[in-house]
Parts: sequence; C-alpha cells; structure tokens
Amino acid sequence: MKVVVTRTLKNVVKIKYDNGMLNVVANCFVTRKRLRKIIEENSAWINAKKEKDDSKQAEKIQTQAPCEPLNKAHNLARRTEREIDSQVIKEIFAGKKTVIMGDVVNVVKSMSNKTYLEGSSLYISEKSFADRESRVKAIKAFLRKMAGLYVACEVSSFGSSASLCPSKIEFKDVSDGWVKCSLATQRILCVDYRITQLPLNLRTYLIAHAFAHFYIPTHDENFWNYISNLLPRYEDYRKQLDEYDFLKDI
Ligand SMILES: [Zn+2]
Repeated sequence: MKVVVTRTLKNVVKIKYDNGMLNVVANCFVTRKRLRKIIEENSAWINAKKEKDDSKQAEKIQTQAPCEPLNKAHNLARRTEREIDSQVIKEIFAGKKTVIMGDVVNVVKSMSNKTYLEGSSLYISEKSFADRESRVKAIKAFLRKMAGLYVACEVSSFGSSASLCPSKIEFKDVSDGWVKCSLATQRILCVDYRITQLPLNLRTYLIAHAFAHFYIPTHDENFWNYISNLLPRYEDYRKQLDEYDFLKDI
C-alpha cells in the first residue's frame, strides 16, 4: 500500500485511507519510526477501510460505462481537492491568510508583540496587523525564520543521506523559480525562503534539485535522470509546484 506523509506544524497525526493510498498528516517532529508504529497499531482499522474501499471500487467498476477513464476521474478529483480556492488566494494576498508547510492558516492579531504559530493560526502583533503591507512583512519575516530553523535541518539531513555537504546554505528572495541553480556549481545552496510554505514532498524535490546541480550544472537529460533516481515522481512535483507559484507574487 502506498503511504504519503504530509508534514504539518499542527500538533496532529491523522491517517486517511483513500483509493488504495494511506494519507498521513503528521507534525514535523514525529519521527518516521514513530509513524510506522502508529500505522502498525492502526493496521486493523486500515485493513477494514481497505476491504470496504475495495468492495466499493468493484461495485463502481461494474456500474461504470466501459469507456469512462477511471484514472482520469480519480486524478481530477485529487486535483480539485488540492487546489487552493480563489477566495482563499485573495485573502492570502491581503495578508489575512497564509500558507505554511502546505497548510492554509489564518493570520490573526496577537495580544503580544511576538509572531507565533498556534493551531491553524499565525499570530502577529496588533501593530503589524494594522495594514496589508505590515501584515505581509510580518508573515515574510516569520517564513524566513522558519526557513532557517526547519528547512536548514531538512537540507542537512538530505545532505548527510546523500553524503553531500554544501559550502553555504542561503535563504533568499529568488526571483526566478525556487532555487538559484547557477550558484550550485560553487556548492552554494540558495533556496527561496518561501519554500517553507510548500508541503514536504515539494520541499524535498527542491532540495534534491539544488543538490543535483552540485554534479550537473544544466537541466539536461542526465540531470533529470539523476533526479528521477532520487524521486521517481518528480514530474508530479514539478506540476504541483505550479499551484504555489502565486506565493512568489505576494
Ligand atoms: Zn535547476
């Protein structure tokens, strides 16, 4: 069974079985070992869901018109589920909401001067909340801080698993794309700080992309073969990244 883990800052571990896939949403500090244990502990529930789903699918196939492309319908449903609603995008542009690690969170006024994330809300000071410009500024400052704290750890962990060590890690405002590919030949890993807004699978893809440039400077066939060996679903991730492109325009 395919297991897809999405990391979140929320203090949760949620398991959902859907169309032969186990979707796990877990706090970023829950280790893979712990997740495996949780899945193991819930195996009876998962198997029951799977059996129910399998029989439903069999029923569906029997009643479906023979020419209906099942996979296409399924992909379409998943795509709609993932897309961020246009009204929500408006609120994100207004600094009333933001996206953190793939989750949409509300931006709300805090009683203190600190910026912090709690539940599904990002608290910013009353002064910063006053107008759009100040809200966006406070959100961006928080994203930069998160990049230094969390993404730097992800980069180190990817680097040690691939036995690669960057000479420098930089989180900047990368105007074109999410990674500054040209700096990688000097082993400088320069990633847009807004990478913190993306879900884990897309962050991993971008980190792998940056590391791949240590060996291959251009986006040629060898480059994509290298990426494909690391992340066989990289083409899906590239497409998914398009959905988050608007974040770079805020
Ligand atoms: Zn590149």
